[in-house]
Amino acid sequence: MLSTQPAGIENSGRQYIPNANKGNNGDAAKRSPNQELLPLTAGINSHDHLEIGGCDVTKLVQQFGSPLYILDEESLRSACRQYREAFQNYYPGEFQVLYASKAWSCLGVCAIAHSEGLGIDVVSGGELYTALQAGVKPEVIYFHGNNKSVEELSLAIESGCTIVVDNWYELKSLVNIVEKLRATSLQQTRIMLRLTPGIDCHTHDYIRTGHLDSKFGFDPDQIEAVFAFIGQQTNLTCVGLHAHIGSQIFERQPHQDLAEVMVQWMEKAKSYGLPVTELNLGGGLGIRYTESDDPPSIDEWVQALCQAVKAACESQNLPLPKLLCEPGRSLIGTACVTAYTIGSSKTVPEIRTYVAIDGGMSDNPRPITYQSLYRAVVANRMSAPVSETVTVAGKHCESGDILIKEASLPQTEPGDILVVMGTGAYNYSMASNYNRLPRPAAVVVANQEAKLLLRRETYQDLIRQDCLPNSLLS
Ligand code: PLP
Repeated sequence: MLSTQPAGIENSGRQYIPNANKGNNGDAAKRSPNQELLPLTAGINSHDHLEIGGCDVTKLVQQFGSPLYILDEESLRSACRQYREAFQNYYPGEFQVLYASKAWSCLGVCAIAHSEGLGIDVVSGGELYTALQAGVKPEVIYFHGNNKSVEELSLAIESGCTIVVDNWYELKSLVNIVEKLRATSLQQTRIMLRLTPGIDCHTHDYIRTGHLDSKFGFDPDQIEAVFAFIGQQTNLTCVGLHAHIGSQIFERQPHQDLAEVMVQWMEKAKSYGLPVTELNLGGGLGIRYTESDDPPSIDEWVQALCQAVKAACESQNLPLPKLLCEPGRSLIGTACVTAYTIGSSKTVPEIRTYVAIDGGMSDNPRPITYQSLYRAVVANRMSAPVSETVTVAGKHCESGDILIKEASLPQTEPGDILVVMGTGAYNYSMASNYNRLPRPAAVVVANQEAKLLLRRETYQDLIRQDCLPNSLLS
């Protein structure tokens, strides 16, 4: 067992459950979901069980199976509203908040975000199809990606969404495709240009995208040639510029610097005659995965962004652009938890105790990919005192399949329900069938009711795409 006591064990020795301890959820609307560990509606019921959206998590597992993604509708809706209200308060011009659906793309999540007035950012034909099927209007869909295929670009053009062009290859393909499609559609294709602004931020290398050595976007030394080229195209309308500098960012300065740089590029684009009126500064606001994470609130982040854009426009004497941002993690990350069932355990004397759960790197690949940290609670004994530090291991045939290296938990037993917090973003969307594990179900909870968002995969689902040529049968 590890001797150090990691942050997260409260002096009382209780499981660390900051919002549940607040008891009453009456002030949920004011709390910024990205600053919480648990969803806004989390509480403890009279059975000493964790409750989310008025639903007993232990009962949800009995009803829908384990592991289970549990999405708190109120947390997601509240985050959407907080983004919109902050723009209303701090930005006198037009704005549009987009949900970066790469964080979690499925029909239900897109539909909730859209019903709160958000548009959707997509990065593949699959995400675009999902957003359209969820009823999202193409006018508020923005299509990113550094290597979109001809099929994807054609689908995007035909659907009427805005294409965020990433590179020369894409730009030239687009010109050809639009030319061919012109016979069937007289519509102009709206594009934006993704620029690499050369701005650094402190986050994991894999999720940093705005520095110069990035696979995304046009480099500063290419931009003027791109502006000149687009100025000559008759079927493409370049409505604005885009940049995204990275994810899980706690500082405000990088986005303020970004605003300044991008406003200068807007002015340059106008000097080439491009009708640029939109500026998209990407996503990136971080969330609280552990007690030591201290991100700004949604309101603070939006305020900083708006002030920087207003100041830059004033100093360049430019009209305010329509301002867009496209958060993913800070909208949905802390709205969801994953409930697992504890099974086997193993103590390596003097070193550590492994406690195994019935999922792992296939439903949450972030720890093995980014060394991400998570916190967990035993949901069926919420007031049990924390008594040990264990390593929560997944069930995959992979030594690195560790979800939490140092989890402060009460004594656990097989059958206990372990809830890992902050699993709304980049969990289901990055999930796999590694070791042929069926992907878990997901439910959305609100007002004591749980509804299925994603049905649990079955063994039949696992072999649905398999082909077994007759010649291989013995
Ligand atoms: N926009 C783009 C282009 C991205 O690549 C990402 C994620 O990395 C996002 C938006 C969303 O970022 P986040 O989830 O950090 O808000």
